[in-house]
Amino acid sequence: MKKDTKVIHAGTDKKRNGGVVNTPVYHGSTVVFENMAALHVAADKVLKKREKYLFYGRRGTPTHWTLQEAMSALEGAADTLLTPSGLSACTLAILGCVKAGDHILVTDSVYEPTRAFCDTFLNTFGVETTYYDPAVGGGIAALMKPNTVLVFCESPGSHTFEIQDIPAIAKVAHAKGALVIADNTWASPLFCQPLKLGADISIQAATKYIVGHSDALLGTIAVNEAALPGVAKALAAIGIAVAPDDAYLGTRGLRTLSVRLKQHEQNAMKVATWLQSRPEVARVLFPALPSDPGHALWKRDFSGASGLLGVFFKRTSTEAVTAMIDGMTYFSLGYSWGGFESLICPSNPGKSRTAKAWTEAAPGIRLHIGLEDTDDLIADLDEGLARFNKALG
Ligand SMILES: *Cc1c(COP(=O)(O)O)cnc(C)c1O
Repeated sequence: MKKDTKVIHAGTDKKRNGGVVNTPVYHGSTVVFENMAALHVAADKVLKKREKYLFYGRRGTPTHWTLQEAMSALEGAADTLLTPSGLSACTLAILGCVKAGDHILVTDSVYEPTRAFCDTFLNTFGVETTYYDPAVGGGIAALMKPNTVLVFCESPGSHTFEIQDIPAIAKVAHAKGALVIADNTWASPLFCQPLKLGADISIQAATKYIVGHSDALLGTIAVNEAALPGVAKALAAIGIAVAPDDAYLGTRGLRTLSVRLKQHEQNAMKVATWLQSRPEVARVLFPALPSDPGHALWKRDFSGASGLLGVFFKRTSTEAVTAMIDGMTYFSLGYSWGGFESLICPSNPGKSRTAKAWTEAAPGIRLHIGLEDTDDLIADLDEGLARFNKALG
């Protein structure tokens, strides 16, 4: 089955749902059993064999299974676990791989709240984090310690857009018995499958492109056989459960992901190319551009680009970026991305870097290119740059 067909059909069981196309929302905590024998059968299937079978609401319902099975098919995973946000997917995946006394390696380009989790929470449980230059590749060998159990990649970084050499990193990590996590939110499983590149766990902030409409928080953790027991144990022990309505919105969004992403890519490419031609712009950070330093790796490992990109200027100031952002018509100011609409926010990635200094002049801007007509988006940015220039003087 091709990817675009999987997006439509994977995980649906119309027989299970009496012919209904989209799996309905199963609201339920208690599941009742006919007798003790039936309860034992269910307990054995769910607790021992990890089968998808009704046992208790927290253990999942058909609404959850549909999304889990669809994501596993797309990511090429043994299973996919659901969490109530993208950040919790990152933190719980890490928790599922570590114990006190361990050391982990995390990319310096990581999503900032993931970094905050390592620095202010994980550290208090005796797990040490070292940040690495996202361009490290096989050079990560020099950073591995005897107690390194995990490498956490995010490719590309969601503010700085470096593409990482996941196959090279995974080769080194596996030789030392460490697992590899990739936060794959930017590409979604349609444009990159980290498990096929050697990662053990692929994370989606499904809040972004999978939900796709900026109206629910959701995370997915796709795992291979090696990573499954640890991560499943962490989620079960902590008691993570996703609301069935949100799982439903995830599946509903997923079914149109393919057409949406292709349009995001086409629009982003047009806007990125236009931005590159502007005299104010020092660099457009978008791996699909042939001039991007990550372009060769992107071409090797990805089959497309999504709609999120960065822009850094030759000269900049907070006032100039503020003047640009405050007058936009179609680009709204807001966090997150992956919905149908265009977004803009300031970008100052240097603040949190520790392994490799960020050298572009800040602030820059980060744009999410939505599904609007690019003529309107470019006109909006053109007027924004006029305000930027005026404020810069
Ligand atoms: C947004 C984001 C997250 C967190 O997702 P939430 O659903 O907002 O918690 C994690 N990783 C990356 C790369 C993100 O962009």
